[in-house]
Order: sequence, then structure tokens, then C-alpha cells
Amino acid sequence: MADQHPIPFHRPPIGEEEIAAVVDTLRSGWITMGPKTREFELAFAGAIGARHAIAVSSCTAALHLGLDALGLGPGDEVITSTFTFTATVATIVHVGARPVLADCTDDTLNIDPEDVRRKITPRTKAIVPVHFAGQPVAMDEIAAIAREHNLIVFEDAAHALPAAFHGRMIGTLSPLTAFSFYATKNITTGEGGMLTTDDDALADRLRPRRLHGMSKDAWRRYTAEGSWRYDVAYPGFKYNMTDINAALGLVQLKKMEQFRQARERLAACYSECFRDVPEVRVPVARPDLLHAWHLYVLRVQPSAKITRDRLIEELRQLGIGTSQHFIPIHLHSYYRDTLQLRPADFPVATAAAESSLSLPLYPDLSLSDAARVATAIRRLVQGGK
Ligand SMILES: *Cc1c(COP(=O)(O)O)cnc(C)c1O
Repeated sequence: MADQHPIPFHRPPIGEEEIAAVVDTLRSGWITMGPKTREFELAFAGAIGARHAIAVSSCTAALHLGLDALGLGPGDEVITSTFTFTATVATIVHVGARPVLADCTDDTLNIDPEDVRRKITPRTKAIVPVHFAGQPVAMDEIAAIAREHNLIVFEDAAHALPAAFHGRMIGTLSPLTAFSFYATKNITTGEGGMLTTDDDALADRLRPRRLHGMSKDAWRRYTAEGSWRYDVAYPGFKYNMTDINAALGLVQLKKMEQFRQARERLAACYSECFRDVPEVRVPVARPDLLHAWHLYVLRVQPSAKITRDRLIEELRQLGIGTSQHFIPIHLHSYYRDTLQLRPADFPVATAAAESSLSLPLYPDLSLSDAARVATAIRRLVQGGK
């Protein structure tokens, strides 16, 4: 085993074209938000089929800015999945609203629409569905609940690029959607995020608020046609993207579907390798959805000869990096204590968190390395040496 190269959990697919694009921007004389960011927004909106795309510094910034521009605040309740990253929920707290957590369904680990219904109160204002691992949430059911109860839907699509629900791209289904370009996400700008919306008035609130609420951004103040005067009509945030990130994003965006296909091939390879391994449960992919395959989440079954924790450790010793998504929100001390939540309130998410691990899944991972990961797992869960 010692001669086998390590397989990291993730490696961002950065090539010479990305490097050249960043260098060009560094030499251009304009490095913060300007023409490259605008070009990236237009290309992204075009790729998704959304009317507006607004580039920001992270998906966390997108979520915070979006909740703010939707007017959510103290007295409001926002329902989201407990099976998500902390940013989805922390940003609800940041605007002063109350997060209300719903459990997930056992097959997809996406938010359970039935539990959403149970959690609705007269104070409920919005639902923030999270497309876990890149598999779209049952958006028809979420939209129906939203219509019935007059709720806003704001999607956390950090994993869902590109993804589609019944042929409609994620980023075009709800009033507002947030994407992530973090280093591990399906396309990356190092750090970055994007909001998409078809609502002109909402876009007009979002754009100035991402840069201090100023009536003109730096590009429109410092360039030849610009003027130094501006007004602050709202106490906005410092959440703009930079042209350095956008230059990277423009190159990555062109490869988005190619990356997705590479991920899909690797996921199929894993599932094929585990076909006759009942000690693990492979992720389900609903056939009517375009899955972005951000994560490949395997669940260790009670019949396995090894615990999940031990499996992660043994793989680490073989040079194979894995991760776990997610430690559900209700198990983190802040949310457990302030919202008074118990593991038994979320039986599906609690059990999934104890049995799951995420396998390496990225365009530069070879099929033979994926097979090596799967072979090691098969041996370990079946108690082989
Ligand atoms: C990564 C992630 C975020 C945050 O994205 P950043 O760009 O790192 O801020 C939000 N929600 C989910 C579900 C994520 O996985």
C-alpha cells in the first residue's frame, strides 16, 4: 500500500487557462469589482437562464444579503433543513429572524416537505430549501406549500450547479437562489457566491446593498465617465465580488457541464463498485432530476464490520481523504441551546449524520482512483484484511 499515492478528499480543478485569466486581470489595472465581475454575472445569468445574476464574496454573503433584501427580520420565522451547513442558518440569525429546522427525508437527505408543513406557524415568512449533495429538493411540493401559506422561497443552491428540477434549471424556480464558488464547490472562484432572480425590483435592492448601499460602485466613480458623488440610501454590506475572482469564475463557468459529467461518471463508478456490498448504502439519484453531484454520500449500515468513525480513520491511514456532510444544525451547541432542540426531534438527520461519510468526488479524480477508494471501503466494511 505504501507505494500508492494519496487520494485527497478534494482538489480544485484549476488549469493554465484559469491562471492566465487571473494574471491578465492583475495586469489590467482593475482588480476589484468592475468589468470582469459584470461579464461573469452576464455569463452566469445566461448559463442558468435567469434574468439577473448578482456576484458576491461568498454564498454566506449571498444568503445574508438575500434575506435582508427580502425584508426578513425580527418576529419572522424561516424554515430550513437541519441537514445543512451552518451558514444557511447563521444568516437567518444575522437578520434577526428565528430559524425553524425541519428534518430530512431518508432517501435523498433533502428537507422533508411534510415536516415543513408541521413547522409552519402564523409567523412563518420563508422557506430556505437546500439541494443536498446537488440533488434538487422536491420543489413542486415546496412551491405548493409556499403558495398555500404565502411564503417566500429562497433556495440555498451551494451544491446545485448545474442542476435542474423537471427540466427547469435551479436558479430559475424561486424568487431568489444563492450559489457558492467556495474552493470545494462544483465551480470555484477561490471564494465567491452568486444570487439569481427574475425580479427586477429585488435585483435593484440587492446590487447597491452588496457594496455599502452606495448609489454608485467604484467602477462608476473612478473611471473616466464616472463622477465622485454618491448617496447612501441604505446601510449596506461589503459583500462584492472582485474582478480577480470573476476572471477565475468566467473560465470555470465554461467547464461547468463538463465538470458535472465527470462527477456523474465517478458517482456511477462508486455505485457500481458497491452494488454487491450490502454493508453500505449508496446515494439515490431520482431519474427525473439533473443531479449536480457535489457530494457522494455513503451510509455505513449496521451489518458493517466497522464503525463509520473507524472507517474514516482506516481510510485516512491508507492516504484516502473523506469528509462528513453534515453535522446537523440541531446538534451544534448554539442551536441546540438557543432553540432547545433534541436529537430525537430530527430522527432521520440524526441517524444519517452518524452513519454517513463523503467520498472524494472531483473532475481531476481518475476512475481508477475512485475504484481504489471503493475497493478499500468494501474490504473494510466486510472485515477483510
Ligand atoms: C458551502 C455552503 C454554504 C456556504 O458557502 P460559502 O461560499 O463558503 O459561503 C452554504 N450552504 C451550503 C449548503 C454549503 O454547502
